[in-house]
Amino acid sequence: MAVCGIYARTSIETDGTSIEQQIELGIKFCKANDFEYQVYQDAGKSGYKIYDDEDPFKHRPAFTKLLSDIEDKIIDKIWVFEYSRLTRRPEIQYAIDKTFKKHDVTVYEQEKKLENDAQSKMIKGIISHVYEFERQMIEARTARGKRKTINSGLRSYWKTYGYRQAGKNERYIVWEPVQSEIENIRFAYDNFLNGRPINSIVKKLHQDEPEPRLKVLYKVYRNILTRFDYTGFSLTTEGAKLCNKYKKLEIDSLSFLGEQEDGKPKYYVPSINYPAQITSIESWAASMGKLRENKEIFRNYKRAANSDIFTGIIKCPYCGLYYYSQNDRRNKYLYYTHVMTKKCLQRPKSSRREKINSLAGVFYFYYYLVYEDTNEFLKENQTVANLNIAKVKDRLATVQSDNRKLEKQIANLQSVYEDSTDKDLIKLTLTKEAELKIRLDANNENVLRLKSELSQLHAEFKKNLKLLTYESVKKTVISYFEKLGAEEKRKALLKIIKECVLFKSYLLINTGKMLFIFDIKEDYAITEELYNQFKSAEMYKPHFTTHGNFENPKPHGDIEIVSTSHFLVQESGKVIRQYKMKNPEDLKITEEKLEILEIDYDLKDIESVICFTDL
Ligand SMILES: [Zn+2]
Repeated sequence: MAVCGIYARTSIETDGTSIEQQIELGIKFCKANDFEYQVYQDAGKSGYKIYDDEDPFKHRPAFTKLLSDIEDKIIDKIWVFEYSRLTRRPEIQYAIDKTFKKHDVTVYEQEKKLENDAQSKMIKGIISHVYEFERQMIEARTARGKRKTINSGLRSYWKTYGYRQAGKNERYIVWEPVQSEIENIRFAYDNFLNGRPINSIVKKLHQDEPEPRLKVLYKVYRNILTRFDYTGFSLTTEGAKLCNKYKKLEIDSLSFLGEQEDGKPKYYVPSINYPAQITSIESWAASMGKLRENKEIFRNYKRAANSDIFTGIIKCPYCGLYYYSQNDRRNKYLYYTHVMTKKCLQRPKSSRREKINSLAGVFYFYYYLVYEDTNEFLKENQTVANLNIAKVKDRLATVQSDNRKLEKQIANLQSVYEDSTDKDLIKLTLTKEAELKIRLDANNENVLRLKSELSQLHAEFKKNLKLLTYESVKKTVISYFEKLGAEEKRKALLKIIKECVLFKSYLLINTGKMLFIFDIKEDYAITEELYNQFKSAEMYKPHFTTHGNFENPKPHGDIEIVSTSHFLVQESGKVIRQYKMKNPEDLKITEEKLEILEIDYDLKDIESVICFTDL
């Protein structure tokens, strides 16, 4: 049987228990328990306390001997007066602890046997904190290293459109430009900055790709349009932070990119991994600005739409009362409702405000898409276009008359050459003539420019008569979403709505010649993507509506379906059907159809029905 090591040390922390007293207690304990024992004692030296915690072994030869005896299996038990104060350094305590455990050493502290686990758990806890601290230090060092790498132009991504991996040098992946992809990136920037929407860019460049892939590509191109690295430069970590703030609308401009430090740009460096200058920094900034603008507008539109705009418009067909906006006490549920009498058959009793307001936006949007009576817009635009043509004609006339004067002056100078022999006068005249000719040339150029401008205006006036109309309609729609407040929206809706009734969940909006039918159980919304497409489409009508060419074209007898909305079909799987009411027979068929749904509505005067839900 192995021996019990009695370990004693001086420390002022052992309540003044002297080494001798400690040893005496240890021996007493061993005798009482029938243990053989050996005493290990580290006597204190002057200054010992200071050294203690720096290296507990250096000034404790006895303790070192004890450990080696444990390893040699001479000792399998130890007795100490106060175990926890073997050292104050937890990691060393832990090391000691591990050694004891490894060699299955039983530890006695005065009279009691220590259950090693509890203590070691506590120490482990402390140690793990130490490691955590060290790990953070290392991480901070690594982040510093990473930052240094990025700030020297070595920013890299695992995959970047426009580049392909071309092996590895000793430390980094080497990227090489892919010419075809670079062309696409250039095309994207040029077209986006010229007002083409991202969808249209993607479709143009990737015509053969299937629909789901196009959706992915939309995101890819959105990223391309924000990727600074295509300028051939790389943002520093600080620069990237500021750009993010700009994206999140936290700062208002990218002007910080112009800042310099030591004669060099402060926030970007030449890129080592992606050196190709595919676009300029200016174009990149313009593209960022455009994307941000879209985001901002959409956010404002959503906020503005979230207020009371349908009050006094929706009528209950059962009791004839109008719906108004209402909140619950905690302002959490905002809804439209009306004063219900016992007789009123209306169900549901209320409708979420946000949902109805969103529907109002959809109605307003599509109302103008199917709008047919565009003569008013046309007249207005003709006037404006004519004014422009008249202005250019005026300017042209002025320049031409100026030219006639110049020509006359030049002709008059000829007589000087004929009549005079005065060299100085001739010299002067030559100078004068040269000056006049320069002016004449400039004017002639001006005439050509104005003439071409005029012919352009004429051509536009003829060719784009329709387009101009579209422009006006477009402005009306855009102002609804971007400029109008709740009350103005309400007025804009009232201007085009003749009557709006809610039959249970079916909302009928009558605009005089057209009837729009929605089901308020369904969700209607104009997506950001669709809205941006509309904004940048040149000819939005043919763009947004498609004629015929879908399954089941005649669900209502002989009523002709004029159009379905192309985009809404794609967005939500919903089809908008427009039915033309050509004769009383068509009206009757549709009225019967509505009756089945318990909608009792007189379709007199209606020329077309636009359904946003299946009837
Ligand atoms: Zn009612």
